[in-house]
Amino acid sequence: MSAQETARTRWRPEPIVERAERAPERVRIYEVAPRDGLQAEAAIVPTRTKIELCHRIAAAGLRDIEVTSFVPPSWIPQMTDAADVLPALGDLDGVRTVALVPNLRGLERALAAGARHVAVVVSATESFARANLNAGRQAALDTATTVAGAARGHGLGVRGYVSMAFGDPWEGPVDRGVVAGLAATLYEAGCSTVALGDTIGVATPGHIRATVRDAVGRGVAADAVALHLHDTYGQALANVVAGLDAGVREFDSSAGGLGRCPYARGATGNLATEDLVWLLHGMGIATGVDLDALVGVSRWIAAQMGRADLPSRVATALLAASTGQ
Ligand code: MG
Repeated sequence: MSAQETARTRWRPEPIVERAERAPERVRIYEVAPRDGLQAEAAIVPTRTKIELCHRIAAAGLRDIEVTSFVPPSWIPQMTDAADVLPALGDLDGVRTVALVPNLRGLERALAAGARHVAVVVSATESFARANLNAGRQAALDTATTVAGAARGHGLGVRGYVSMAFGDPWEGPVDRGVVAGLAATLYEAGCSTVALGDTIGVATPGHIRATVRDAVGRGVAADAVALHLHDTYGQALANVVAGLDAGVREFDSSAGGLGRCPYARGATGNLATEDLVWLLHGMGIATGVDLDALVGVSRWIAAQMGRADLPSRVATALLAASTGQ
């Protein structure tokens, strides 16, 4: 048999569905590649490419996309074009396009650009607040709740982030009570979803379950908790399963796994959307995502960025399978 015939008869891999007990029918994937993914990459991607990336991601079936950040350009040069990216996405019907806003000035810029959904950020640790939010932890919380209230007043949807919710590169293990309290405060301030961020990827499943349980214990609805997981230590998918068990119904991920860990040079950061989709579809959980189309999107953006490889295991495996390697 020739090599060509072997390739033709080979199984085209796809998740083998075995419905997990107590699994939900559907889970929402919150795609972060255009903002969190590109922000953590060294390359500055042209505005038109960012816009095309959002359109391609939506065409692959993702309905919740964090598209940009209205941070001061001096903080994050990759996001200088937020006011050009967001208005160019107005034709994405049925897609929740979310813009990150770090302060009231950012909210004003987002409103001027036509934002309908924004995200606010707090830190569970003092060190990260000072390093990344340019404020103390309490001041950052005050800013976030003020921005959330103002955004709600303008009729916008608001998502909250608690960064460094599990471990911190300077302070080590993070107090779960602090995380639960911050999540409850953001929820009460009008955030429809609060994403707990494992920013350095150190959490393990028991830690995830306990932290979600604590947030729920402080009054946050379980289905209002999201998880923003990083795969730095290879724990992200195990942590997704733990989150599902705890009632979480929204997970953040990045197409292709774009976005390196900013605190571990060269290490993997964001959980890859393809890896998450493979897991969920295998568990019989609907996501609306066309996996092959998404792999195509990831391959395209990697080429635009001059990257030869992708952190996503599933994207890498499917690309290899499609080329017979
Ligand atoms: Mg991230």
